[in-house]
Amino acid sequence: MNLAWWQHMNGGLIVAYSDPINRSTVTCSRRKGRNCCLSYRVLLLANYLLICKPAQGQSAWVLSGNLGVNHAVSGKKAKKPFVSEDIQGEMILLGTGTSVGVPMIGCGCDVCQSDSPENNRTRTSAIFGLPGGNLLIDTPPDLRGQLLREQIGVVDAVLFTHEHADHIFGLDDLRLFQFYLGHAVPLYCEEMVENRIRTSFDYAFRSDRPTHAGSTPQLEFHRIGTEPFEVLGTTVIPIRLKHGPRFDVLGFRIGNIAYCTDTNEIPPESLALLEGLDVLILDALRRSSHVTHFSLEEAIEVARQVRPGKTLFTHLSHDLDHHLTNQGLPEDMALAYDGQRIPLQ
Ligand SMILES: [Zn+2]
Ligand SMILES: [Zn+2]
Ligand SMILES: [Zn+2]
Repeated sequence: MNLAWWQHMNGGLIVAYSDPINRSTVTCSRRKGRNCCLSYRVLLLANYLLICKPAQGQSAWVLSGNLGVNHAVSGKKAKKPFVSEDIQGEMILLGTGTSVGVPMIGCGCDVCQSDSPENNRTRTSAIFGLPGGNLLIDTPPDLRGQLLREQIGVVDAVLFTHEHADHIFGLDDLRLFQFYLGHAVPLYCEEMVENRIRTSFDYAFRSDRPTHAGSTPQLEFHRIGTEPFEVLGTTVIPIRLKHGPRFDVLGFRIGNIAYCTDTNEIPPESLALLEGLDVLILDALRRSSHVTHFSLEEAIEVARQVRPGKTLFTHLSHDLDHHLTNQGLPEDMALAYDGQRIPLQ
């Protein structure tokens, strides 16, 4: 048996574990050296973190937390510093590209071949730096690169607009955050999104023992609809949007900003929720019309109707060159770009 010992300096916590994990070999000083209480199931075990899943009726118990100050004394590994930029008070557009991204694979058009960083668009997502933590919107396939690019080290919760592949297939990248947070990552979504995630990422929801700690994402669903709800201490107002004739999705309003991607119709009752905005982020796929997305012209018309302080267009295809298009737009409208930062109220 390969047994490793860890001494945590704050709290005097000692954890022993074997590889692969075997509950019977897990001991900790807070349990007075006894094996981990059998009413708890080891959920996660990382270098510095042991989380037990409580039996029904018991509250969760994190044996070691505060990753920022724990220092392990061990012959095996030294603690690495945790790096995460503080983005509180800002919203960052992590990705502004359509489902295939820009450049598009195999395309030699001027936008796809452009050297301008604004014409390089990863799949659409955004993150809010709220007082209670970092709130991500959607988990696109480019999520890992987006978070690294912006030096964002942790996601505290995720909202989903809808279940299309370009909005959920980076979900496995959330796996790290269960260690950093000390609990499963909270996901806020509608039923259709939950069903898609449970089907597409079935390995995360199976009861069989994982091959090793952290091999699957630990996720916790929170069902939302069109009623406002609280997350990370902030009120989120969901906005019902049509994404083509047969598909409903959600946009979200947080304070002075509304985020409305993947839509080609905003019903009147939803338009009423967009009054008095500082910034509207709105879908605008390309110049010609599309069955599930606003064209640029249609999006401009919506922006004129809503009259926010500023409108930024997202979910952009290679049809729209950043600089050339912006030259032709009204002063209070622009194409968004990856990494664009917007102050929160
Ligand atoms: Zn999309
Ligand atoms: Zn192209
Ligand atoms: Zn979509």
